[in-house]
Amino acid sequence: MIPVASPYLPNRERLERYIDGIYDRRWLTNNGPLLEELTARLEDYLGVDNLLLVSNGTLALQVAYRALGITGLGTTSTANDRPEVITTPFTFVATSSSLVWEGAKPRFVDIDPDTWCMDPEGIRAAITSRTRGIVPVHVFGNGCDVDAIDEVAAEHGIKVVYDGAHAFGVQKRGRSLLLSGDATTLSFHATKLFHTIEGGAIIFRRREDLLRARRMIGFGIKSATEIDLLGINAKMNEFQAAMGLSVLDEIETNLSKRESIWDVYSSGLKHCYQLQAWHPDCSRNYAYFPVLFDSEEQAITVQAELLAKGYQARRYFYPSLDTLDFLVHDQSMPRSRDVASRILCLPIHYDMDRETAQQIIACIP
Ligand SMILES: *Cc1c(COP(=O)(O)O)cnc(C)c1O
Repeated sequence: MIPVASPYLPNRERLERYIDGIYDRRWLTNNGPLLEELTARLEDYLGVDNLLLVSNGTLALQVAYRALGITGLGTTSTANDRPEVITTPFTFVATSSSLVWEGAKPRFVDIDPDTWCMDPEGIRAAITSRTRGIVPVHVFGNGCDVDAIDEVAAEHGIKVVYDGAHAFGVQKRGRSLLLSGDATTLSFHATKLFHTIEGGAIIFRRREDLLRARRMIGFGIKSATEIDLLGINAKMNEFQAAMGLSVLDEIETNLSKRESIWDVYSSGLKHCYQLQAWHPDCSRNYAYFPVLFDSEEQAITVQAELLAKGYQARRYFYPSLDTLDFLVHDQSMPRSRDVASRILCLPIHYDMDRETAQQIIACIP
């Protein structure tokens, strides 16, 4: 069976060299040397500053919301004055469930039917006096219209946290896409392009936000005798950092294998099916290969036929989040529901070969 995604496993001797250091030092977590090394290497590789490593991509979102004050109730708040945060229904569930978990109310804006990212004009129309923030998603790594979104946010004095879980390494006009907004979060889950088994990061625009968030992820502890703010535990440990360093050492191999699979799919399918319209100023990271079929029925039939031949395609993202009643009520997003119903992501990972991608295309009518 060829899975839709497969975790990148780095050379084992390389990983063991990092782990030998952990054994020598007996320093397993809490701001260890491998965590520091990975932070510096990622800032350098991505071309960003103010990067904070955390234990997973969902906590990256939660901590970013808290550090920027877009969620979090005052002591006298009631359910009716929960802060509203504008976001997209076409994403992985964690983008919205993390907002609800943090006490905010998602207010969905529908997607652009071609790029599958949120439409900036829709954002402007959705802003009310209760809006505290905007959480757009770079869907499958495709850059949102960050200039327009950041401008709307600045006009209204509200904060933007981009969920960049899919956008590792994406550049816009030669500069990291992850430098947009007040913060951008990343997920380093095993199935993502770059991973630390479980893990994530927040890239803050301002140093002071990073410093507050760093305190927050260590229980709010300031020094041996001082605890000065409300915190949580969201620290990354040294074994996670060891995996991250090993995966980063081999990132070019991983990327070039994915690119070659992506090229086979793209040339075989672009004339027959709708593919994602990519932002003209953004580079690609070849993390996903989504295809939009003509109907839901066709997508389901293709998925079953691929499965019968040993290839796993996934309905991703499905369902559209506006259909989940523990997230929202009475918000219906027709474009997101339509795309969610017809989409399939095809297998793409570093240990696949071009022949397999060609066989997959051959199964698609
Ligand atoms: C993977 C993912 C997350 C959650 O990240 P975890 O590291 O799995 O917690 C959040 N948002 C999006 C868009 C994702 O794809």
